Formats: sequence, C-alpha cells, structure tokens
Amino acid sequence: NSTQIHHYELDRLAKRDMPACMTYLMYGLNQKLHLKHFGRLQLGLFLKGAGLSLNEALTFWQKKFSKTSADDFKKKYDYNIRHNYGKLGKQLDYTPMSCQKIIGFQPLKDEFHGCPYKTMESQQLKDFLKLSYNITDEQFVQVNIFKNQKQYQLACKEVFKVLNDTRDKTKEQFYPYFDKVGNHPNAYFEQSLRMHE
Ligand code: SF4
Repeated sequence: NSTQIHHYELDRLAKRDMPACMTYLMYGLNQKLHLKHFGRLQLGLFLKGAGLSLNEALTFWQKKFSKTSADDFKKKYDYNIRHNYGKLGKQLDYTPMSCQKIIGFQPLKDEFHGCPYKTMESQQLKDFLKLSYNITDEQFVQVNIFKNQKQYQLACKEVFKVLNDTRDKTKEQFYPYFDKVGNHPNAYFEQSLRMHE
C-alpha cells in the first residue's frame, strides 16, 4: 500500500472517505474519548490498511484517549496498537477486517464496532448518515430498502454512489476498486480517495 495518511487528517476523512462502520467508530471515539476492545481492533486494523504508520497510530490513539493518562495509556493500550502492526507478541501481521467479518459482529449497547447498516434501526441509521455524510431523506430511501432486505453491503455501496457521483465515468478507467466497495472497508476507502484525487 503506497498511500500514507496522517493522524490529523482522520476526522476529515471519516466524513468523506470512510465507510459507515469506520465513521461510526470515529464518532464513538470522539464522543467517549475511548473505544472498547473490538472497536479499537476494527478501526485500528482498518487504519493500518489505509496507510497509517505505527507511529502515527500511536499518536492518533493517544491524542483521542485524552482522558487517559500517559502512564495508563502505555500500560493498557500501547501494546495492543503495536500488536496490530505485528511488532510484538507472535509477530503476526493482522489483516484489516472484511465486511463479512464486521457484519458478523454483535456489539453491545455502548460499543461502536460492527456494520451500522445491520446494527442500527432505520431511524438511527438515517440520522447517523445525515450527520456524517449529509445523506438526505430522499437518498436514504434506497439505502433503507437494501437494509430491510438485509443487503447491508448493497446499502453501503448505495451510500458510496450517492457521495461520489458515479454516473459518467467508465468503470475500468476510474473504478479500480469499485467492485470491492461493499466487500471490504479498505476498498471503499481507497476508491473514495481516488474519486477525490
Ligand atoms: Fe463497513 Fe462493509 Fe458495513 Fe460498509 S458494508 S459499513 S464497509 S462493514
């Protein structure tokens, strides 16, 4: 992956290029100044895949966990972040999660991981998409149809299409990852970045 992103860009990118599962984690993180284990894992691996270096990731999480003291951060979270990058423990390189995996999660009430197209009720989803991406009621209609059919990945792709006017360009030329939008959050992100180049 040749793209490099920086921690200070992430709030902006969350509202433009990240799919709802990651935008919701960013929202939760900004609200709570904390995320629970699976949230940190889902977002952390995505950010790694998106091109955030280990040092940038450490800065990002530490700044966001602003209620946590530097000592506590070091004790409780530093290891996990390094671990995501395969720098400690078994030296495994952890791969960003696919949609299938994320859709399979069943988050508890105060958790933000999982796929919002599945985990949220329609009204909450509508409000969230409006807040995050300015999706209108009219644009939400088709998204909600897919959601109610349990076609969560199509709902996600529909939002991508609304946010990126995909009408006039040929797929081959402009959409190298378009087929994978709705299959992998990192494909959604990469494709969205390209659309804004
Ligand atoms: Fe994320 Fe995939 Fe759900 Fe889209 S369909 S919100 S990329 S898990």
